Amino acid sequence: MKKTESSFTPEITIDSPGRINFIGGHTDYNKGFVLPAAIDKKIHFYFRKNDSEDRATIHSKQYDNPLQINLSKIERSSTLWENYILGVIQQIQKLGKTLKGFECIIESNLPIGSGLSSSAALECGMAYGLDRLFDLNLTKQEIISLSMTAEHEFVGTKCGIMDQFASVNGKKDHVMLLDCRTKEYKYIPAVLKPYKVLMLNTNVSHQLSDGQYNSRQDECIEAVAIIQKQFPEVSFLRDVTLPMLEACKPNLSPIHYKRSLFIVEENARVLKAAKAFEENNIEELGKLIYACHDGLKNLYQISCPELDFLVDYAKTKSFIVGARLMGGGFGGCTINLVHEDFVKPYIEEVSKAYNEKFNIDLSAFEVNLSNGTTLRK
Ligand code: ADP
Ligand code: MG
Repeated sequence: MKKTESSFTPEITIDSPGRINFIGGHTDYNKGFVLPAAIDKKIHFYFRKNDSEDRATIHSKQYDNPLQINLSKIERSSTLWENYILGVIQQIQKLGKTLKGFECIIESNLPIGSGLSSSAALECGMAYGLDRLFDLNLTKQEIISLSMTAEHEFVGTKCGIMDQFASVNGKKDHVMLLDCRTKEYKYIPAVLKPYKVLMLNTNVSHQLSDGQYNSRQDECIEAVAIIQKQFPEVSFLRDVTLPMLEACKPNLSPIHYKRSLFIVEENARVLKAAKAFEENNIEELGKLIYACHDGLKNLYQISCPELDFLVDYAKTKSFIVGARLMGGGFGGCTINLVHEDFVKPYIEEVSKAYNEKFNIDLSAFEVNLSNGTTLRK
């Protein structure tokens, strides 16, 4: 087995992918539809047991100081990344599972904080690895749920289920149409040829915390409370149709109306995009992706000048069929469907233009659709 550090021979190795989401921005926590896929950018975990009953050491190569854990006393840390791990361990223990001492080294080629869900890859890889190391018999669904709960409770980001779901359940060269309420899903072959998925990372992050992300959720919940007065059958924005929304418009503030309209329209777009995948109609998919960005910008209001610049630039190119901001917003990546013959020259051109405009270097990389979290054989 590969040695990762001079004295460290792992017992097991886990590869945990990031994810993209072709379309379905912010629909997950509104219990709607999303269309994600796991990608070939991953976090790698090297695990081995140690002799202790309750001491664990985790060294992420992204950070200088290893995390030292007393497994019999899990508490929140003042260091952000440690809380993802600690939260997962606590959730596993809450399921009545016993962990013993272990060591783990973490390496990653998945950009952090860029909308590719390194957080879910971290949580799910940790949970998956501990499951295998200690034969915990966790189901995939348990790994997904406990990872999400860990992020809610230890980190404070009220994320939906999509990121963890996609990281665990990804399938090579497929997208997943996921109903975030019922958790039902289906794989759809993604025949993108001749297009490639190009991620452009703005390398800006306009929000230090997830304040805006959580406030969008609050606005959606508030909108539901107002809509429910006329339509008691509505539990989430997912249940709202356009005519219902129009009927409620006089009672909704402009903000609540805009947020709701985006979610209602976006859910419909995801279903159309799934059909476009089924019909191998990537041009149609691309149109829906552009429309998604317009909604995220104008109705959901989570874009920023750097993201808009990249999407507007893409629109000037006939070899790009769709682009949008992907992830929480206010920075991070755009996803672009670019004809394979033009990927390289486009990266050069758009990087130069972006740098001239913002004096910031753009990062660009292609992604391929990959399997979910796996134990490396
Ligand atoms: P995203 O999930 O889009 O990448 P988040 O802000 O949700 O962005 O999660 C990023 C956080 O996840 C980082 O700030 C860090 O705390 C944690 N993280 C991601 N990758 C790693 C890693 N390889 N090692 C340690 N922590 C990581
Ligand atoms: Mg995240």
